[in-house]
Amino acid sequence: MPSDTADSRLSDIHDRIARAATLAQRDPADVQLIAISKTHDASAIRPLIEAGQRVFGENRVQEAAAKWPELRETTSGVELHLVGQLQSNKAEDAVALFDAIHSVDRPSLVTALANAMDKADRRPPCFIQVNIGDEPQKGGCAVADLPALLAQARAAGLPVAGLMAVPPFELDSAPYFALLAKLARDQGLTGLSMGMSDDFETAVTIGATHVRVGTALFGSRA
Ligand SMILES: *Cc1c(COP(=O)(O)O)cnc(C)c1O
Repeated sequence: MPSDTADSRLSDIHDRIARAATLAQRDPADVQLIAISKTHDASAIRPLIEAGQRVFGENRVQEAAAKWPELRETTSGVELHLVGQLQSNKAEDAVALFDAIHSVDRPSLVTALANAMDKADRRPPCFIQVNIGDEPQKGGCAVADLPALLAQARAAGLPVAGLMAVPPFELDSAPYFALLAKLARDQGLTGLSMGMSDDFETAVTIGATHVRVGTALFGSRA
């Protein structure tokens, strides 16, 4: 990892979010930074907590369940977001562990999450993930399936906060962010989970309310 400190990395990201938001005449406070800590252990995460970061994201239920209970015991106000694909048989674990779920992408998962939320009487906000570049290997519902999935999620009582996407890797993200923003507007949703280390400023200028930044905060993953 860069030889600089967690403090300086975090304040650099906050500065860049603020500059992008200001450029787009948005309030920087309307953009939540989610520090994606997947693959990094507690010793890498603690400095960021000490620097003031409280919102973290993980992509695997099991990894998060192994790492976070202990970190949470010693820190108040931690919020944990699930940003990776979720198997329906882990829905109960996910509802118990996470404060937001960004990867709702199919009818069977909506049903499993709704049942898990009813059982636990706990309703973390959810984002519907859209396969915005229509890539076969990626999670997310097809653009054409979004209205029906959203209707199902709403009818099942899932608190839908917005849409989430990971644009195609080698292409300019901006058109995909713009499409996701349009889809959200069309559906009356305000939350937009988009933007990662390489493109979060672009995402902020296009309306991101949640940016998911890993590498720029933690260094590259092994
Ligand atoms: C890993 C991951 C991120 C963070 O990616 P970086 O390029 O390291 O910032 C964001 N979103 C999702 C869904 C991820 O899996």
